[in-house]
Amino acid sequence: MDYDLIVVGAGPGGSTAARFAAENGARVLLLEKREKIGYPVRCGEGIAPKWLEFSNIPIDNYWISKKVKGAKIFSPNGSCLVVEDDNLGTEVGLVIDRVKFDQTVADLAVEAGAECRVGVFVKSLIIENNTVKGVEVTSNGVEEKISCNLVIGADGFESQVGRWAGLNTLTKPSDSCGALQYYLTNLNIDPNYCEFYLSKGSKGAYIWSFPKSKTESNVGIGCLMSRVHNPGEIRDLLDDFISNHPDFSKGTSINEMGGGVSLSPPLDKTIRQGVMLVGDAARHIDSITGGGIANACIAGMVAGKVAADSIKSKDYSEEFLEKYEKGWRELMEDRLYHSYVAKTKLSQVSPEMIDTVVATMNRVGVAEPTVQSILSVLDEYHPDILREVGEMI
Ligand SMILES: Cc1cc2nc3c(=O)[nH]c(=O)nc-3n(C[C@H](O)[C@H](O)[C@H](O)COP(=O)(O)OP(=O)(O)OC[C@H]3O[C@@H](n4cnc5c(N)ncnc54)[C@H](O)[C@@H]3O)c2cc1C
Repeated sequence: MDYDLIVVGAGPGGSTAARFAAENGARVLLLEKREKIGYPVRCGEGIAPKWLEFSNIPIDNYWISKKVKGAKIFSPNGSCLVVEDDNLGTEVGLVIDRVKFDQTVADLAVEAGAECRVGVFVKSLIIENNTVKGVEVTSNGVEEKISCNLVIGADGFESQVGRWAGLNTLTKPSDSCGALQYYLTNLNIDPNYCEFYLSKGSKGAYIWSFPKSKTESNVGIGCLMSRVHNPGEIRDLLDDFISNHPDFSKGTSINEMGGGVSLSPPLDKTIRQGVMLVGDAARHIDSITGGGIANACIAGMVAGKVAADSIKSKDYSEEFLEKYEKGWRELMEDRLYHSYVAKTKLSQVSPEMIDTVVATMNRVGVAEPTVQSILSVLDEYHPDILREVGEMI
């Protein structure tokens, strides 16, 4: 075998998996189709540091653009709930430079002993007698077969590895979000708070601002694909929001990017003989926020360690890889599932109802907007809404 393990995709999930597998003795090849890791950026770049520490990624000023104090959550009528840093979820606390971050995480993998090749497109899995034997790649127009015993698919939202492995990776339109983001400059904003606008406009979109400095911010929109007919509608909604915003309307967009985000629950199954899926490829994304960097790193850490164990035991069976399936589910499944249910309910309630709940949370002083705390507020102050929303957890 050329390698013990091939990791497809050098995003945060793949690089973390490669790192932990290499640290634990595996011969690892990390393959990335892009010429430059992390570029172009398709991300709001918000993250909470505690989850990075959990997956042993040292916090480094090199890739931090801005430390924020918290978030401002705006209900449809414009009321604002301020949430301080300690009480935030997985996506706020730091606004990062994704190119530098992704490259740093890939560097950690290389320092641990993984080999990394960029500009290499993985085009299929080699499977013989139901056993994974390697991957077929194209690089600079040259085709190549590389053998290995294990493959980790960390190839993002549009993952092919899962499909090639025969796993069900389909996402419903009502669980897919179309996203568009502008990098606005020339602003004069408070850079200490991220901002989130709930259920904005006729399509109930979600809008964010992740400030990089007083003058720059990632301002973007996510909208359920089941609610729009074409991507142009998403652009119109964002343009309309920005042109009516007192601060953002003064900015200039110098970069834009679009992409898909899965707001589905995690895949029912993320393994098969010789294959594990990590991060967006496994739908390890928070359905409420669309955030997935930290979850990809956590899943990558678990997958990398299980890969190393599997290699030491020379056991690449699905039964052995169950350790990964169980491992990431223990760490994240409840949280991801609660967010999914909350997202589904949130997309059904009226803007007026969201206004009422945010106003009450402000009045009674709920600092941490978890699903549980929102339910408690509803239970105590709005049992009628709770009945309407139904059982969330
Ligand atoms: C508009 C937008 C805003 C977002 N904002 C945030 C945010 O603020 N905070 C947050 O936490 N998350 C955010 N996310 C989600 C976040 O970007 C992802 O959850 C995260 O990047 C997942 O990491 P990953 O390693 O699983 O996949 P990715 O980062 O997508 O990495 C996958 C890698 O695989 C490579 N690849 C794919 N196919 C192949 C192939 N066949 N061969 C070789 N290489 C391949 C890709 O080039 C890519 O580098 C956002 C997403 C979008 C679209």
